Amino acid sequence: MSLVNENFLKLQDSYLFSTIAKKVEKFTKENPDKKVIKLGIGDVTKPIVPACIEAMHKAVEEMGTQEGFKGYGPEQGYDFLRKAIVENDYKTRNVELEPDEIFVSDGAKCDCGNIVDIFSKENKVAITNPVYPVYLDTNMMSGRNIVYLPVTEENNFIPELPKEKVDMIYLCFPNNPTGTVLSKEELKKWVDYAKENKSIILYDSAYEAFITDESIPHSIYEIEGAKEVAIEFKSFSKTAGFTGLRCAYVVVPKALKGYTKNGEEVLLNKLWNRRTCTKFNGVSYVIQRAAEATYSEEGKKQIKENIKSYLENAKLIKTGLEEAGFTVYGGENSPYIWLKVPKGMTSWEFFDKLLEKANVVGTPGSGFGDFGEGYFRLTAFGTIENSKEAIRRIKETMI
Ligand code: PLP
Repeated sequence: MSLVNENFLKLQDSYLFSTIAKKVEKFTKENPDKKVIKLGIGDVTKPIVPACIEAMHKAVEEMGTQEGFKGYGPEQGYDFLRKAIVENDYKTRNVELEPDEIFVSDGAKCDCGNIVDIFSKENKVAITNPVYPVYLDTNMMSGRNIVYLPVTEENNFIPELPKEKVDMIYLCFPNNPTGTVLSKEELKKWVDYAKENKSIILYDSAYEAFITDESIPHSIYEIEGAKEVAIEFKSFSKTAGFTGLRCAYVVVPKALKGYTKNGEEVLLNKLWNRRTCTKFNGVSYVIQRAAEATYSEEGKKQIKENIKSYLENAKLIKTGLEEAGFTVYGGENSPYIWLKVPKGMTSWEFFDKLLEKANVVGTPGSGFGDFGEGYFRLTAFGTIENSKEAIRRIKETMI
């Protein structure tokens, strides 16, 4: 008899985006003349920039020649990309990393989920609430105990240090879904906590490219001592629109240690390398060349333009909502706008009203955890025209 992993049965079914899709479908059927604007799902809309397209064309041509053909690549990623990451994402911020501390992957979602393989099931895990659901569900699947860290208006969406000792801590800044950021001082508190408690911080900086405020850290390694306590996840998805191409990376510094039950030290870089070589066969050469091109002069310029335009949308949505009388968080240094729904309404009731009156789709905050109830997420990944029109309709129909 084949027994199943019963932890899966404890997971809450994720109906969030399918419920949204069903409601939108029903509305569109009943109101065929209404044009619905979708500011709900966190996917990008701008095409891949020319620098990356050129790099892919070139790589494809290479693959068709005997000299240029590549079969299986290194599981951890090609050196050209690992070096480019170290030089561009870290050296420029005075963070020294070696290419063999970088592991190129096909997405930060998989990385955030897969990383649990190298940690004991006995670890206690701290996770913010509301949260990007992957951290929670993957730890539930392996049966770990979860400590929730509420992030609400009361604490300015900055999680407080756990009262009890935890072994693993997930942090994501700029945050999905709240759109808030963490200062160096706040982040240092977590690094100090992790050092004191021999915990590991799993730092998701998928939205780092949206930071414009110079005082906000792009990487946790900008905090002194973080290389001894943190793994960092980074993705080309939101930075360069790679949601469909798929490329990301994990940083596992060689100074990072875990422990056996007997208290012996184990290098996490070694464990993650072993896990990667066993379960992964690397990202496609063509895609890694595209990722490398994001660091070329042209690539950097083109990507910056896209991010700038998404940030303009964010600003426009944020100010528009404020003018309409809403209390709004995020929307600066982030593509997410987190608004407080009017008193007496649930997140889902607000969803329905917004769809019916303004024909605008967003995401109910309660879908990201119970502390998200009473809030609502809009994203800046749409077009400028749609963002403007959405705000115009909200002002006209929701006040
Ligand atoms: N981390 C966060 C916080 C995200 O919001 C997302 C995607 O929405 C991801 C990771 C996934 O990134 P990727 O496309 O690299 O899997």
